[in-house]
Amino acid sequence: MKKAAVLLVLTMAVAFAGCGSTPQAGDAEGGNESNADSVSTTEVSDGGDILSDGVLTVGTNAEFPPFEYVGDDGEPDGFDIALIKAIGDKLGVEVEVENMEFDSLVASIGSKIDVAIAGMTVTEERQNMVDFSDSYYQAVQYVLLPAETEIAAAEDLAGKTIGAQLGTTGDLMIEDFEGATAKQYNKAVDAVNDLISGRLDAVIVDKNPALVFADKFSEEIQYMDFNFEPEDYAIALPKGDAALADAVNNALAELKTDGTFDDLVSQYIEN
Ligand code: GLN
Repeated sequence: MKKAAVLLVLTMAVAFAGCGSTPQAGDAEGGNESNADSVSTTEVSDGGDILSDGVLTVGTNAEFPPFEYVGDDGEPDGFDIALIKAIGDKLGVEVEVENMEFDSLVASIGSKIDVAIAGMTVTEERQNMVDFSDSYYQAVQYVLLPAETEIAAAEDLAGKTIGAQLGTTGDLMIEDFEGATAKQYNKAVDAVNDLISGRLDAVIVDKNPALVFADKFSEEIQYMDFNFEPEDYAIALPKGDAALADAVNNALAELKTDGTFDDLVSQYIEN
């Protein structure tokens, strides 16, 4: 990575010097960019082209505590953010986090972002558009309910008005309950607020965020586990980039072996 950076600087200097005393608009920049490309593809073999500029741009939706949320300093924080930064350290790249809507993440890979980490469940539908890293966490959907409710089992959700974050696995489950009305939100917390104010009968959201919300609003709401199918979280990667997938999976495996992963679990999830 360092070698590539030095070469890049040298190539840029040469390209700049090549402009001589008659600078032509656009030329220098265009020249630099194409030289930078040729440096990166020839000098960096581990991790593929995406890592060769030294920056990994990571999309997330910082509305999903404890995996991602906006910290006190206004920057995205949480287990996923710490994990991807640790992966970046292993790969020798800087991690830049882009906070965006959950529903836009998959489609933005390859354009606005390189990869996405967002408590994202591996699903067949998503696998048509992106590849996934090895799974790093097992989750399950929980149901948030008002403190007082008649709902006591999954079948009681039939015919109810149910909220979820748009485009999530929780959202997709709502159609399984006969006659249920789905209400979709950009943020799970907005669904929780509608549950508290009586506009919803239930909210379906992943277990760990459900526990955070139920704890935060413990007077008004409760959580229930209806034994839905377990889900696997993984990092979404550009389709077909085996070099990047290998690099990310190797870094993840190293973090598990050296204890960093478990430290992050106890710091962010099981605290
Ligand atoms: N695990 C769920 C999904 O992948 C929810 C993720 C989220 O809201 N950040 O759809």
